[in-house]
Amino acid sequence: MSTEKIQFCQSCGMPLLDEASLGTNEDGSPNTQYCAYCYERGEFTADLTMDEMINTCVGFMTQAHPELSETQARDMMRLVLPTLARWKKHPSHHHP
Ligand SMILES: [Zn+2]
Repeated sequence: MSTEKIQFCQSCGMPLLDEASLGTNEDGSPNTQYCAYCYERGEFTADLTMDEMINTCVGFMTQAHPELSETQARDMMRLVLPTLARWKKHPSHHHP
């Protein structure tokens, strides 16, 4: 995997630093768009709305970066997630 440019998961915004953090396509090959937590075997692992994804990620972010408050983490996710491919297509789509 190229180290020229860090890719970010187009679902949760997590940096995709190595092959182990990549999601997998239906045939098991690595998917360079999404991380292993979000995308497995050609499908999203969880059918979330963007707000639900933000709630999930805030927990991980404050664990990984204790210097961040929950509000700061949430504000960052609210800025980043709408720019990612998964959420751009369906800005306010809710599944029934
Ligand atoms: Zn992800």
